[in-house]
Amino acid sequence: MAEYHPQQIEAKWQQRWDEARVFETEAEPSKPKYYALEMLPYPSGTMHMGHMRNYTIGDVVARVKRMRGFDVLHPMGWDAFGLPAENAAIQNKTHPRAWTNNNIAEFQRVLRRFGFSYDWRREISTCDPRYYRWNQWFFLRMFERGLAYRKKSRVNWCPKCCTVLANEQVVNGGYCWRHEDTLVESREIEQWFLKTTHYAEQLIDDLKELEGGWPERVITMQRNWIGKSIGARVKVAVSDVAGLEPIEIFTTRIDTIYGASAIILAPTHPLVHPLLAGSPRQKEAEPQLAHMRQTSVKTEDLATAEKVGFFTGRHAINPFNKEELPIWVANFVLMEYGTGAIMAVPAHDQRDFEFCRKYGLPLRVVVQPDGVEPLDAEKMTAPFEEHEDGKLVNSGPYNGLSVDDAILAMSAHAQAQGFGQREITFRLRDWGISRQRYWGTPIPVVYCENDGIVPVPDKDLPVVLPENAKLTGEGGSPLAATHEFVNTTCPKCGGPARRETDTMDTFVDSSWYFYRYCDPLNDQAPFDSAKVAYWFPIDQYIGGITHAILHLLYSRFWCKVMRDIGLVKHNEPITRLFTQGMVQKGGMAMSKSRGNVVGAMEMADKYGADTGRLYTLFAAPPEKDLEWSEESIEGAWRFINRVFRLVDRHAPTVKDAARWNVSPQGLSGKERELVRVTYETLRRVTQDFESRWHFNSAIALIMELTNEIYAAEPLEEGVRPEIRKEVLEMLTLMLAPMTPHLAEELWEMLGHPDGLWKASWPVLAAAQKDLARVEEVEVVVQVNGRVRARLKVAAGLGEADLVPKALAEPAVAQHINGKRVVKQIVVPDKLVNLVVA
Ligand SMILES: [Zn+2]
Ligand SMILES: [Zn+2]
Repeated sequence: MAEYHPQQIEAKWQQRWDEARVFETEAEPSKPKYYALEMLPYPSGTMHMGHMRNYTIGDVVARVKRMRGFDVLHPMGWDAFGLPAENAAIQNKTHPRAWTNNNIAEFQRVLRRFGFSYDWRREISTCDPRYYRWNQWFFLRMFERGLAYRKKSRVNWCPKCCTVLANEQVVNGGYCWRHEDTLVESREIEQWFLKTTHYAEQLIDDLKELEGGWPERVITMQRNWIGKSIGARVKVAVSDVAGLEPIEIFTTRIDTIYGASAIILAPTHPLVHPLLAGSPRQKEAEPQLAHMRQTSVKTEDLATAEKVGFFTGRHAINPFNKEELPIWVANFVLMEYGTGAIMAVPAHDQRDFEFCRKYGLPLRVVVQPDGVEPLDAEKMTAPFEEHEDGKLVNSGPYNGLSVDDAILAMSAHAQAQGFGQREITFRLRDWGISRQRYWGTPIPVVYCENDGIVPVPDKDLPVVLPENAKLTGEGGSPLAATHEFVNTTCPKCGGPARRETDTMDTFVDSSWYFYRYCDPLNDQAPFDSAKVAYWFPIDQYIGGITHAILHLLYSRFWCKVMRDIGLVKHNEPITRLFTQGMVQKGGMAMSKSRGNVVGAMEMADKYGADTGRLYTLFAAPPEKDLEWSEESIEGAWRFINRVFRLVDRHAPTVKDAARWNVSPQGLSGKERELVRVTYETLRRVTQDFESRWHFNSAIALIMELTNEIYAAEPLEEGVRPEIRKEVLEMLTLMLAPMTPHLAEELWEMLGHPDGLWKASWPVLAAAQKDLARVEEVEVVVQVNGRVRARLKVAAGLGEADLVPKALAEPAVAQHINGKRVVKQIVVPDKLVNLVVA
């Protein structure tokens, strides 16, 4: 009797797969193609079981598709640039490249140890000049088209680090993550931008192509992020500063303008200073303004940040009703959105409601909901924001109009009177890609005194990151201090020039990496369009919900740029997206900083990769969070051992048996029940894999099947070897996508020397489908709720057949005893209940 030794079995099969190059994929046009992809990891820290879930799900999908006859592309690579490598290098006095490469080696060891079916020949690393060269190439194509440009913009600036901080590096409400006593400043510097807004309309419209393939919630997040709104600009005249230009406000609800209580400007609005100059409130306001400008609110925090503001002492005239409105400045109005000025309508907008209640500004209802108690301004505890089902009130000539009609009528009036116009706006901003850091792709331009900004010619790419930059974490960009890098000659005039020292946001790297897998070694172009046309779009992309906005949005943007350059033909890169749940331990996501990680390698060393894979698939549906439980791992381990022992026990007597001919003739009762439950399990597991990804319920079904087989032991009594072989083979094939090493080993034990990887997913033939059906069922017969008999009948009989059979049972007749049946309740295949009186 053999024992299950996962370490040996898993090493053995991984070696066999490598030798036979099982997962190396080339285009095979005779088969349908399938591109299965998991989001590429950032190689940092230890790979833990939280990471493994994503890859396990992807691997099951890839393996199922391969078994079902698809030509499957399943690659892996590394998102290798980024700040953590730079910081780790500063801390450990090493080079970011050395640190990153060590991590990549470790990550690769873990992924190989888990037997994931990647085509490793296609591996890419974004910090490789052969890769980032094409980031630079794309940048130049965008620069030529005006899609890459330079402008001044506000950034988070740490005066101690002397560098720009990403939003995530601003912590505890405005402090530097490395200097927790240093308040982050908001500064204006020149930065490079990619013009994502050029595609704003398409990025919204093409979401339609993703419906049904992407989670509804991700589509909504994308739509909200892009934030298309049809609004109006309205000019309001300032009444108490002579000669000042009117303030232009932007609103998406011009219909509520009769309910305005104030005009509010962004702290950086150019009219703030002219308004304050000589105002009775100037003295109090100026320090407040200075503070506000220093601690700017981030877009993503707008909804939750505390709203603060001050009155300028000035007033403006509402052009619709000539009312005088106080002009305020507040932190929740952003210069980057609309015109940097709004009207506050507290009765019909949440932010305005909170702000005006806080500062005692009046509230007036101008839209009344239909068919309910009229709103009372004094008693409102929340604004009425609905578009639908409302009519205008307190709005002069517009009273009685619906919201939509009022928006049209009032914008038309504003336009006719010359104080306003309709306008479509987007919340989406252009993508700031400049980072004043070392470990990223150098931006390929130089600055020449004669020629200004000069792009580096294609033939001089890549602009290689110098290996010798000094990394101290302070004093600004390390590249700027590396003179050999900075000082260069102008490609245009040959005179002295300075290189750009900003590097690109690492989201650039991940915006197009999945195209490169199709043609990873190309040194003439980012990829061959024909190869991409074969594999794209991605059939299944798998990753965390944390990437639901930026990574996916930038990838969609990149795709549209590439389409317009003529590199690809599709509009959208990803057909189906799946966002898996998190792995938690003690109720919190696994993370090194919380100290609750379970290392993937420890898991494999203790139980083997197959147990780890099976556990993560079984413990929760893939889209739900999973709470780590050591007991359940033991359960998965015991189940695998049970299957192994079962096959091991029967293998010697079945491995040479011929294939069973699937004939119902001559089946014993025991055989019939065994093949029935096997085929029925296969039918349901196939369904779980194909349409719904209920891997956990598929595993539960396979566990049940295993229990049924054990319950029929000893199988030698009454079950022919060819039928035992059929049943054990089906069990093995069903396990193959989830526990591939185990399945290969069992397959070999069952008499197949040349590898399960060559086997197909079993498809039930008509004869097998017939056998899957339940033939005989047991129906319980009750009289007045008490069980009096059990009938063995053909499955599927209705009331007309079941009731006479029940009445014919002697035990039933005896309890009816001549009384009248007043009611009969029949559940086909289960129950007949007769009520007598
Ligand atoms: Zn700092
Ligand atoms: Zn020049």
